[in-house]
Amino acid sequence: MNENRDRLRIAVQKSGRLSDQSLDLLRRAGLVFRSSRDRLFLYGENMPVDVLLVRDDDIPGLLVEGSCELGIVGRNVLDEQRLAGADAPAPAELQALGFGSCRLAIAVPDNGLIKNVTDLAGLRIATSYPALLAEWLRKQSIDAEVVLLNGSVEIAPRLGKAHAICDLVSSGATLAANQLHELVTVMRSEAVLASSPRAQNAATAAQIERLCARIGGAQSGDGMRLLMLQAPRNALPAITRLLPSRETPSVLSLDGRPDDIAVQALCSELDWQHLEELKRLGASSLMVLNVERMLA
Ligand code: ATP
Ligand code: ZN
Repeated sequence: MNENRDRLRIAVQKSGRLSDQSLDLLRRAGLVFRSSRDRLFLYGENMPVDVLLVRDDDIPGLLVEGSCELGIVGRNVLDEQRLAGADAPAPAELQALGFGSCRLAIAVPDNGLIKNVTDLAGLRIATSYPALLAEWLRKQSIDAEVVLLNGSVEIAPRLGKAHAICDLVSSGATLAANQLHELVTVMRSEAVLASSPRAQNAATAAQIERLCARIGGAQSGDGMRLLMLQAPRNALPAITRLLPSRETPSVLSLDGRPDDIAVQALCSELDWQHLEELKRLGASSLMVLNVERMLA
């Protein structure tokens, strides 16, 4: 950590697609914040952790210079700046966070002139991600020209600035509205937790590790359910086979009922059909609870 600072700083997008879910994740990781008057900082009230609210493009730089120890940013932004920065020390991706999913894809006009990836040779491709695109082209041995555009990339073909584009896509609606369609995916992206490449002292490293474990716990609780039921002991093998469970279920004995058991299992997906099947196998007292946080 910075010598003059005994608090951890985590950079988060100030206003954009990742903002709400980033702050929500930190809150679920147990952080309680108070907003500063200028709304650039959120002061952590219950842990020595503050949040710096910035443009997402600034996050890798803040990590490289050590102004922040951690950041939540799209993998696309992180990898673009790592590639563009050549051999400079780069932030590390600690964990993927499961939101902000999108893909960086090459899209071409619906006129049908570009059918295959090899048709891109000799053409111009507009993008805000020149380093990621150039690396992909190099790996595919395609010799195309990369045209840097910062914004409104999707209108470049209609303006005659480029033959194709390489841009972030989630639903594809923006592409369709611009008479474009996807040709190939260059990379898959989502929000990730990244750390500064600056050397950390032992105390900072321990603090980062603690926060990461909490974030991982808040995140892995997402969509997880705890299933509880009672059943005849001899139905256990069939029940276990049916469970969409990550881990071995816990099996408990029931006082005064030697032929029955209670089962607890962590499941990522559980619908009514699962419950009905379980009931058919003899399960009773079925209960499904949301999991708020987990610590492995
Ligand atoms: P800033 O003002 O912070 O620079 P921005 O306009 O660059 O914001 P956003 O549009 O808010 O950024 O996108 C932030 C991140 O959200 C992207 O870098 C990407 O990782 C992710 N994302 C998810 N889906 C999409 C999408 N359909 N289009 C663009 N980004 C997406
Ligand atoms: Zn940005």
